[in-house]
Amino acid sequence: MGDLSDPLTVLKGVGPALAKTLSKLDLHRVEDLLFFLPLRYEDRTTLHRIGELKPGMRCLTSGEVLLAETVYRGRRSLLVRVSDGSGQLTLRFFYFSRQQEAQFQPGVTVSCYGDVRAGPVGLEIVHPEYRVLGKEQSPVVNDSLTPVYPLTEGVQQGRLRNLVAQALAMMRGNPPAELLPPSVVEHLGLPTLAEALDYLHTPPSNVDIQIIESGTHPCQSRLAFEELLAHYMSLRHLRNLANREAAMPLGPGPALQRQFIDSLPYQLTNAQNRVIAEISNDLKEPHPMMRLIQGDVGSGKTVVAAAACAQAVASDVQATVMAPTELLAEQHWTGFNEWFDKLGVELAWLSGSQKQTERKASLEAIGSGRAQIVIGTHALFQEGVEFSKLGLIIIDEQHRFGVHQRVALRDKGKTGTGHPHQLVMTATPIPRTLAMAAYADLDTSVIDELPPGRQPVSTIALPDTRRMEVVERVREACTNGQQAYWVCPLIDESDVLDYQAAEASYQMLSDALDNLTVSLVHGRMKNAAREKVMRAFKGGDVDVLVATTVIEVGVDVPNASLMIIENSERMGLSQMHQLRGRVGRGAEQSHCVMLYKQPLGQLAKSRLSVLRETNDGFVVAQRDLELRGPGELLGTKQTGLPEYRIANLVRDAHFMPTVQKAAGVIAGENTERERAIVTRWLGNAHHYGKV
Ligand code: ADP
Ligand code: MG
Repeated sequence: MGDLSDPLTVLKGVGPALAKTLSKLDLHRVEDLLFFLPLRYEDRTTLHRIGELKPGMRCLTSGEVLLAETVYRGRRSLLVRVSDGSGQLTLRFFYFSRQQEAQFQPGVTVSCYGDVRAGPVGLEIVHPEYRVLGKEQSPVVNDSLTPVYPLTEGVQQGRLRNLVAQALAMMRGNPPAELLPPSVVEHLGLPTLAEALDYLHTPPSNVDIQIIESGTHPCQSRLAFEELLAHYMSLRHLRNLANREAAMPLGPGPALQRQFIDSLPYQLTNAQNRVIAEISNDLKEPHPMMRLIQGDVGSGKTVVAAAACAQAVASDVQATVMAPTELLAEQHWTGFNEWFDKLGVELAWLSGSQKQTERKASLEAIGSGRAQIVIGTHALFQEGVEFSKLGLIIIDEQHRFGVHQRVALRDKGKTGTGHPHQLVMTATPIPRTLAMAAYADLDTSVIDELPPGRQPVSTIALPDTRRMEVVERVREACTNGQQAYWVCPLIDESDVLDYQAAEASYQMLSDALDNLTVSLVHGRMKNAAREKVMRAFKGGDVDVLVATTVIEVGVDVPNASLMIIENSERMGLSQMHQLRGRVGRGAEQSHCVMLYKQPLGQLAKSRLSVLRETNDGFVVAQRDLELRGPGELLGTKQTGLPEYRIANLVRDAHFMPTVQKAAGVIAGENTERERAIVTRWLGNAHHYGKV
């Protein structure tokens, strides 16, 4: 009897070649097959009478061939009429061989499986899976549902079913270890791991398939829970490692920080004060801070970051602020200069587009320690940049980075005195339970209050047939000295269309608004060209900025009071909320117009009404999450946020408080258990093993 940790080649029928193909599905050991769950199931446990079939059913049925004919109406097809006495059904084939044509002789019995639909002459199944039965043969009816696995080239469904069946047989003699502590298993009241795996590969015929399809069956929850736990523990592990590392404690003298705050032209909000205090406490610790600030657009995160920098400077270490684009970095540069010049703090600037001589001067100031706060783009962490005494790293608008980048950055900033403190800021607020899963390696602060006196952006949705009315409104506002954004989002996956849509709107607006200056920015422009236009807009030389979604993050143009969004029916709510946050920063009442293509479906309608009804980014994010899933919200695709095999961060996030407790129990008793769970779900290659 083999062992679950054996390579797949111990299974019957698996040689080195097949093993290699299977590795493309991330299947290496026998145990991997157990965790390789079906995409869906087919129900061949009941043989349906033809008379009881209805369109939309996917089922097994059988009957006697009455007639088979090849017809040429429109497209050559083979039609096979069958009957079982209760009704008639047509099997329709568009691709078929001579042999198939000959097979369906009147009088033979066939069993078939497929999607029933209404055809031109009664019910039909297009390309059923079928079997011609012999005289004494009856249709094969299964005891359990038939699993359908994800495939890769070179492995057939039948082969995978066979291999999984072998693995299951092996498991029954020798079940995989139950890694959850007994108290947790008992508390959850869910099946054991072996029961759950067995069930999900071979669900009995009486299972409610809709529950399984919704992913909420107790057997699925059992696996999802353990997977969430594994991810959570691996992130917490990183967090704990950071706690064991050394960092320069930055304190106590808050004098400079006080001075900075007193010099501001406004009062900080309670939320800003609270978060500054949370950061301040972290910085005093001899271990690196790893903190995330979540705050809605316009909640005033920059000044909080600056206050943290003041604390670092007062402790005689360097602080650095990194922004995702040159424009944003430049905006910080301007702001920080205003704040810190008068306090006698030395600033330096570093970006990719800098002239060589300037760059050299900056590098010298950074290396000698003369520069106390350094502002820039990714260029800050490139080769050749040597800080003299880096104590604090601040990363703005970080929601597009994943955990791996966070770790890499932390290691890059390492100096003789230990790791720098790290603060990351994001304007994409995410609900608490989701944050627990995605950011378990960070402590979180929330700025849940906007500065006083902000007028909420008034938001309306209009069909794009009324575009010209909106253009008139833009003309009016801009003639009165205001500015407008006209955003054309990504319509298709391809850049080309994205570009064309913006280009067309740009032409239309340039023609219609001949007394105004209209400019265009899009993602395919060179950075320098794009930033030139943005700067002109910021300086008031451009009235209407036509843009793809490149303007999404952080730009501050207080004079802009109109935001028009085209194709709003296709955009994510959080993304539109971000866009809307670009206006409403000045004294003028600001407006956001969401243009949509008719007709608008029910879902799209309710999505747009979320934005009309609330200006609260957390509410928007929660609805976005429910409607579109976490990938869109967190930008999973680009970020390397770990992929979950079974768990779904929206559906299963409610487990997070229990996951957190279970992790606590395990941490208190047994590190081997922790390692085993993490390895089972994330593999040995995961950074958990390395750090
Ligand atoms: P975000 O959180 O989106 O990065 P910013 O830091 O850019 O927001 O701040 C948005 C605007 O609010 C800026 O113009 C800033 O000067 C202003 N601001 C920040 N805090 C306050 C406050 N407490 N009172 C008034 N205005 C503030
Ligand atoms: Mg900002």
